Amino acid sequence: MRTRIFGCALVPGVENEPNIPFVQNAEVQVDGNLIAYAGTAENAPPFEAEQQIDASGCICMPGLVNLHTHTPMTFLRSAGADLMLSDWLNQVIFKLEAQWNRGLIRTATDLGCMEMLRFGTTSFCDMYMYTDSIVKAVRDNGMRALIGHGVVDTDGSCKDLEEGVELAKNWNRTCNDRIRVSIAPHAEYTSTPALMKAAARAAIDMDIPFHTHVSETKAEHEGCIRRRRMTPLKYLQSCGALDAKVIAAHCVWFSDEDIDLAAKYGITVVHNPVSNLKLASGVAPIAKMLGRGCSVALGTDSVASNDNLNLWEEIKLMPLLQKGTTLDPTVIPPAQVLAAATSVGAKAMGHENLGLLKEGYIADLILLNIRTPHMTPHVHPESNLIYALQGSDVTLTMVDGKVLFRDGEYTTIDAQTVLRDAEEGAAGMYKRFRAMNA
Ligand SMILES: [Zn+2]
Repeated sequence: MRTRIFGCALVPGVENEPNIPFVQNAEVQVDGNLIAYAGTAENAPPFEAEQQIDASGCICMPGLVNLHTHTPMTFLRSAGADLMLSDWLNQVIFKLEAQWNRGLIRTATDLGCMEMLRFGTTSFCDMYMYTDSIVKAVRDNGMRALIGHGVVDTDGSCKDLEEGVELAKNWNRTCNDRIRVSIAPHAEYTSTPALMKAAARAAIDMDIPFHTHVSETKAEHEGCIRRRRMTPLKYLQSCGALDAKVIAAHCVWFSDEDIDLAAKYGITVVHNPVSNLKLASGVAPIAKMLGRGCSVALGTDSVASNDNLNLWEEIKLMPLLQKGTTLDPTVIPPAQVLAAATSVGAKAMGHENLGLLKEGYIADLILLNIRTPHMTPHVHPESNLIYALQGSDVTLTMVDGKVLFRDGEYTTIDAQTVLRDAEEGAAGMYKRFRAMNA
């Protein structure tokens, strides 16, 4: 399929640029799953296309990358509100999660993908259970994902890890490379040194990312220091994990030494500000990390602690929280926020030509309607994009050259069926959960 998008403004994306570039009266040409041209309409080469998209009044930009989530947890939306992390997990989340089966996970994944697509997320990095159902959902719904089987090990048997490795063998780089697989040990406090070492070795040997939770809460960070006489990140280093391509979610309680270690090893830190605030985990020192050369991407975490998958909320909160805690309004410029929401995550997922709109890059893109009261006037486009835009302004989402969402409609997902099945499936889970607690 060849697609020509015309009449829009273009944000080609950013990596290390100080400002977000805007190209007025632009055209984007998509040939198969790749960008053939993205620039001014004036300089566009002739292009025969089966699909013509009039995008006047819109911005065309790279799709968002949600680098840390647990997609099927959509059924647990708003569960256990206002509890501390340990109570939230033990009293509510784990008991609900005991109800899962393959069919429920499939519906819950499709529901999460619907939500991400309508808010402009084209790629996500996931860690959860029943991953065979998750990959099949992504295979069919057309999104791009890096999926890891969440591995826990409390008895040293490392049984979960075998499942994670199996998933990678069966699914890594499948579906035209839309699906990639990571090795995903849940966290320091849910695993043994034997597991961490084996997981690190597996990720390095298979040359796939190593995705884990690090220093999310003060209790976890200090507990690790008590248990192992070192911080969680130092512990990962001692297990050989930092030699893998590490995606480290949260990092709220990083010490200065941890920050330098993260920069030295080229770890990608995933900042999940909404989840960290909702669970009262704290505010990660993101400005300091960026200042010392760390890579920082954005994630929603699961809807159980968010309570949605709208990454535009993280986009706005990331600079606001750092301004508020450092008292420096210049501390994180808009370009750095946009990179965290797009190109940095794309690289961490292992894609070299993803996260920007330029020739030869993968055609994962979105259209944003800016003919709205809250985006008018458009004289400060960078600030408008980061602080004023709403997730609901996304009108079109394309992944791998294929339109998956447009004007409220999905092209690969039967939305009404998923919404109905999700409502019924979640009701059944809560019914059993209440019976358990009665
Ligand atoms: Zn998480």
